[in-house]
Amino acid sequence: MQGSRNVIILGSGCAGLTAAIYAARANLAPLVIEGLEFGGQLYTTTDVENYPGFPEGIMGPELIDRMKMQAARFGAEFVSHQNATRLDLAQRPFEITLGNGDSYHATALIVATGASPKQLGVEGEMELRGYGVSTCATCDGAFFRDQEIAVVGGGDTAMEEALFLTRFASKVSVIHRREELRASKIMQDRALAHDKIEFLWNTEVVRFEGDPKSGLQAVRIVNNETGEESDLPVHGCFVAIGHDPNTEILTGSPIRLDEQGYVSPADRHLPFTAVEGVFVAGDVHDHHYRQAVTAAGHGCAAAIDAERWLEVQP
Ligand code: NAP
Repeated sequence: MQGSRNVIILGSGCAGLTAAIYAARANLAPLVIEGLEFGGQLYTTTDVENYPGFPEGIMGPELIDRMKMQAARFGAEFVSHQNATRLDLAQRPFEITLGNGDSYHATALIVATGASPKQLGVEGEMELRGYGVSTCATCDGAFFRDQEIAVVGGGDTAMEEALFLTRFASKVSVIHRREELRASKIMQDRALAHDKIEFLWNTEVVRFEGDPKSGLQAVRIVNNETGEESDLPVHGCFVAIGHDPNTEILTGSPIRLDEQGYVSPADRHLPFTAVEGVFVAGDVHDHHYRQAVTAAGHGCAAAIDAERWLEVQP
């Protein structure tokens, strides 16, 4: 047992770090279990143009690093490179066990574990992950300088990835399963107007071809209207088709999950859950807004409610 805390926060994205800032400023000395991937989704994004207060935009990783510094300044502490792997919510203080076997007690717990990029589930996807197949243009885009590459998806993430990748690639083919984009109007307009971006409508990925030694060689695609298959000869393909919530740790707990695995609306009367003393914040329960600023707002609300709840505990 590593110790007992007033508040433990699971997750180090916008929601978790904002909760840490508020809880730390309330003198609760929160401990943040950062998870294996520090910073959440903003850490793998590029320009953030819609976070209030940054008229010129700010890079996602910089925004997150600043949030962490702000939380640390008020006394938040951090456990890096560890996921929580087991929660015992049966009695208080709750017990949180990490992947390295360390465990902590917390009177209040804020779950801000976010969501992770979805997989297509096609042949070659996992085998070629890191060898041409990626979910992070910021991380891997520069490997494809002056090459033709592909992006899968029709939402804001796909448009953002495609636009970012035009900085490196000679051409970006966006593979989308319908002929209408889901992305916001402004992102659609930018992508559709970009001369390096081409759209392959009504098109799905059949498999990724290649092997880890030679890398991705082509994306096998099919037109879902004609059934016609062809190879798109690219060495880089970015899958940007949405996210799955990181709620495995809540499976089997009294906290209810919806059919997609997000913390259920029944437990989404912000930020309280079915377990007194457990609060949620950010994309782990929000598949509607999913914005950095809404996640930060949820983190703030969770920390304030945790603080008020702690105040009335015997
Ligand atoms: P999303 O809006 O859910 O879009 C996912 C896209 O992937 C959709 O076009 C979907 O196709 C496609 N897709 C899903 N599963 C697929 C599959 N198995 N095979 C092929 N295509 C598949 O996800 P997102 O783009 O990650 O955006 C999530 C949220 O974050 C949204 O609210 C978005 O506005 C927000 N966001 C905002 C910004 C920004 O403002 N700068 C940037 C990124 C994300 P269909 O359209 O056919 O369903």
